[in-house]
Order: sequence, then C-alpha cells, then structure tokens
Amino acid sequence: MQISKVECRSILTRTTGYLKVVCSHSLNPYTGCGLGKSACGEACYVRFNPWLTRGREWGGFVDVKINAAEVYCRTVGAERRWAHKRSQPFSIFLSSSTEPWQAVEKTYRITRSLLDAFLDEPPDELILQTHTTGIREDLARVQALSQLFRLRVHVSIEGDTERLPGMPPPPSRLEDRIRLLRELSDAGIDAVACMAPVYPVSDPDAFFKNLAKTGIVGVVIDHFIEGDGTPDGARTVKTPLPAAMARVNPDSIFKGYRDHIAAIAARYLPVGISSQGFAGIYHRTLPSPGS
Ligand code: SF4
Repeated sequence: MQISKVECRSILTRTTGYLKVVCSHSLNPYTGCGLGKSACGEACYVRFNPWLTRGREWGGFVDVKINAAEVYCRTVGAERRWAHKRSQPFSIFLSSSTEPWQAVEKTYRITRSLLDAFLDEPPDELILQTHTTGIREDLARVQALSQLFRLRVHVSIEGDTERLPGMPPPPSRLEDRIRLLRELSDAGIDAVACMAPVYPVSDPDAFFKNLAKTGIVGVVIDHFIEGDGTPDGARTVKTPLPAAMARVNPDSIFKGYRDHIAAIAARYLPVGISSQGFAGIYHRTLPSPGS
C-alpha cells in the first residue's frame, strides 16, 4: 500500500449528479481507499475515476489529506453561505469516495480531526457513510455531534450473505456491522442500514426482522443499475459483481430486484430508495412484491 501525505487546497466539494439531491457538499478525508481490494472495492465506482486514481491501482494507494480540518475551518463559512444562498441546508456527506474509518485512520486520525472541527463549525446536517466498524472509536464524538445538528450514520450492509461466490471478503464481518447498528441506536444516534448496491438476500423476512430489532431509523436500498452513476449499470457490468450476484440469484442483477426487496423491507422498517433514501426520505408502505 502506497501511503502519501498530501496538503489539500479544498476539502468541501459542492455536489453534482447523484449526490445533488442528497446533500450540498461531500467531504473526503483521504484520496483512494484502503478497502479497494475488499468486496465493496471490486465494484466501487470510484475506481473508474481516472482523475482521482491518476493511473494508480485501486486499493493500492491512499493519499492522506493532513490539513483537512484546517482547510475545512478556513472554507466552511463561504461554503455554508453558498448553500444557504440556494435555500439549501449546508449538509455534508462523509464520505463519497473513500472510507472514513479505514486502517490509516488509526495512524493519522484525519476523520477524527474533522469531527472535532464540526464541533466548532457545525454543518446543518451530516451523513456519515461507512463500510467498517472503526467508527466505534469515535462514538462519543459522533454522539455529541448528533445533539447539535441532524446526523445519520449509514452502515453498508448489502445483503444477508457474508461473502458472494468468487468475491473477496467484506471489510468487516456482517454480524459485527449489525452489532454496530444496535450500538449506534442505543447511543441515541440515527443509524441506517445501507444496501447499496443490494446483493441477493436469501431470507429477506428474517433479515429485515433482525435489522429492525437493532433500532435503526431505516434502510436504504439501491441497485447497481443507476446506483453506479450510469443508467444501465455499465460501470458495474465491467466488474465481477454481477456474475457473483447471478450465481446466488439470477433475478438480483435486474433493477426490479431493488423494488422487490424494498417491498419486503417495508413490512419491518422505513425504506428509502436510491438517492432519495440517501437523502433520508423513507417510506413506510411500498407495493407488495408481484402486485
Ligand atoms: S469503502 Fe467505499 S470507497 Fe472504499 S472501496 Fe469500498 S465502496 Fe469504494
């Protein structure tokens, strides 16, 4: 793994495309991702961004933005005003193209420094997105922030199978991520299970019943078709993910599978679909499968 310390000139990125309906800004404490060779990294849409990878192997590099918190504090006023001028809340998605609690965070604590900066310069809303359970080490900070402004933690849980055939293992065990959802909920933090992209679910009723017991506020369900930023899932089709999904359930590679699973999920939990779900818009009723 090639780890480089870099100084960034900006840290709050005004959103476009898919994220535009979700939040005003994204914030990435690192460039690249140490989880790039795990299950989520295989079909990670960021790996197809040449501007970001600059020819480097996905999962083989991480640039550590050592001045992220300082730059946040210097630029937050202008970015907050920019959002408010557009009658939008100043809302931050952390992170859209890296994992905030990947292994290097233990050494550099860039994400932690940003959480501390949010105490002094709070956004109107913060969405924390993670594939790991490292957020536990910052639970007290996240809890304190959740008392100050709207905050949700999205924990990626793509399905009820630990590992799809032929795919590498996930960044952290499924059971541990489900336990994390309960710990967040017990701490009074709005926690969300994020199935993005949704993998085949072998026993949806048992799975969502189990998730509902953790006290989460909802589940977000997205499919790689459209969810990867292309109308037909073209980016993901180039990866091993669709074949692995099809080996478990051939129907799961079609977009209708998202709605099928969402309708079952709605029996147990508020459900958010695709970008609307990421934005925190949930439904309590959805059409039943087959209706
Ligand atoms: S954690 Fe997120 S950014 Fe990193 S490889 Fe997985 S999906 Fe991509």
